[in-house]
Amino acid sequence: MFQVALAGLIALTQIVLAETNSKAEEFLIEFNRRAPLEANVKEVASWKYSTNLSSSEAAAAFKAASLAFDTFFEEAKRNASQLGNVEDLPEEFQRQIKFIRESSTLKDVQKREKLASLKIEMQNIYSSTEVYDQTTGKNLSLFPDLTDIMASSQTFVDLKTAWQGWRDAVGPKIRQLYKQYVELSNEGARDNGYTDYGAYWRSWYEVDNLPELVENLWRDLEPFYKELHAYVRYKLAKEYPQVKGNDAIPAHLLGNMWSQSWGEIYSLVEPYSVNSSIDVTKAMQDKNYTIEEIFRITESFFESLGMKKLPEKFVERSLIRKPEGLDVECHASAWDMYVKTKGGKKDVRIRQCTEVNDYWFVTTHHEMGHIYYFLLYWDQPYMFRDSANPGFHEAVGDTLSLSVSTPQHLVKIGLLDNYVEDKEADINSLMKMALKNVAFLPFGYLIDQWRWSVFEGKIKPSEYNSEWWRLRTSYQGIKPPVERSEKDFDPGAKFHIPNDVPYIRYFVSHVLQFQFHKAACRLAGFKGPLHQCSIYKSTEAGKKISEMLELGKSKPWPEALEKLTNKRTMDVGPLKEYFWPLDLWLRSQRCSLNYKIGWPENPGPSYDPCVVPTTLPDTETSPVNNQPNDGAAHAWYLVLIAVFSVLLGC
Ligand SMILES: [Zn+2]
Repeated sequence: MFQVALAGLIALTQIVLAETNSKAEEFLIEFNRRAPLEANVKEVASWKYSTNLSSSEAAAAFKAASLAFDTFFEEAKRNASQLGNVEDLPEEFQRQIKFIRESSTLKDVQKREKLASLKIEMQNIYSSTEVYDQTTGKNLSLFPDLTDIMASSQTFVDLKTAWQGWRDAVGPKIRQLYKQYVELSNEGARDNGYTDYGAYWRSWYEVDNLPELVENLWRDLEPFYKELHAYVRYKLAKEYPQVKGNDAIPAHLLGNMWSQSWGEIYSLVEPYSVNSSIDVTKAMQDKNYTIEEIFRITESFFESLGMKKLPEKFVERSLIRKPEGLDVECHASAWDMYVKTKGGKKDVRIRQCTEVNDYWFVTTHHEMGHIYYFLLYWDQPYMFRDSANPGFHEAVGDTLSLSVSTPQHLVKIGLLDNYVEDKEADINSLMKMALKNVAFLPFGYLIDQWRWSVFEGKIKPSEYNSEWWRLRTSYQGIKPPVERSEKDFDPGAKFHIPNDVPYIRYFVSHVLQFQFHKAACRLAGFKGPLHQCSIYKSTEAGKKISEMLELGKSKPWPEALEKLTNKRTMDVGPLKEYFWPLDLWLRSQRCSLNYKIGWPENPGPSYDPCVVPTTLPDTETSPVNNQPNDGAAHAWYLVLIAVFSVLLGC
């Protein structure tokens, strides 16, 4: 009797399960049919607006398309919730449904509209603000005018004027809007069960301890950053009497509007003046390179790894130079339009105001990394058409850049003519890479530290600017060249803040790209120091990279990472290994020249630079548990109203 009842119960359970299964399958088939179409409408509207910012019709159409997409998604979320318990469904269904159920969309429709308007308004202020130049009577744009001044001028006052001009023009206009944006974004997150909007952002990483995890990665890298900072400060002090040997560096002297990448001051800090040139910009200009050629060379690197050619007319569909007479958002970005063109080609695009120089050469590789990721996970279900975690997306193109930037590769493709390989040229080349990649690390870390605290309410609106500068000084060792107050809003002068784009992904990607690089070099059979490796033409490396990218978001990121690296944790070891010769060189410089390290707000480290370690850093240690948690929320998809699938340069 009992056995009969049990058999009946099992049969009933199986019927219920089969029903839930088929309902879920039906729902997902319909969702995966519609979602790319709905997303495409929004992407097209966003593209049109961002390439014609002064058109009020384009702005209105974009806002309408954003809200329509939100409505579609809210409906999908409701339907997904009605499926009830999905624990017994296949893992692939469960994961999609879990993602669909998560969002930070406001329940109140009017507030949702208000938030959409706020984002567009901030985006518009950032993109269209210009700075009046009193000496020439002209208005200066951020790109290329102010950016060029920051990169090329070595006049203290001119740099200060450009630095302050941009912040004074854009910050205060955004400040009040930002406060409202924080309130409404938090409300949306709380409507969906998150403590605040920052917690919602962090949930995309599928780990419980993201802040702890990145803090530990940073602490491991900080001593090297400080060596670099100390040397650069020592060199800058020779150029500018305003730079003090034991203080934070004035923020406007590092060749970049946000002091986030210091490559432009390479000539001031060059370790050795040797005949051997690693000046790619000069080589490109000497050889009359065109923007189209930069794109062609970049694509050919991906092809050399065995990846397919880009879809026909990719460049024509993209926007690759600043157009005359049109107001365009120039911040580099890569776009997945989600559906094929009428001609049956996958519609992916790059939007950037390219110029012929080293910076854009590297940026084009970065953006094209996004494009190849889009193409490789194209056939995944909609919710899996994203990177394993947001840092992965940013790391792909940059991984290739590590190969492309080696002098050995640049010689091979005819971009460096008179490079002679020796120890001094090697250190010069590493210094150039460190100014871009290592200088970036504390910046990449602190932006979202500031925002996480703002969303959590630990930083009050009355402390927005002072706390921003506390972090900037503490982590980066820089200080504002003029007094700042709470009338200013310097965070608003950085694209990703008014544009609602999370930033910790760039820190994560700067760690991951060296892990990817090391694994790819091993697959390419490279023997030698990591910083000299190029994976050009290695189809073995290309195959494993593709396998990782094809997964999209279908598996937790440690699985994707394992495909290429055989490791499941993030690890700064490869980054340290890559720069190890430079780290040793910097210590020896400090030992012999006896300059200071650290600054009052962040003193140390206290080790003796004259005691030089002789072994490579241990690349296998990884003390932090960065395995994903099972129960974490997985909502990564609505990279919200303003930018959505668009992936941007840092
Ligand atoms: Zn990017």
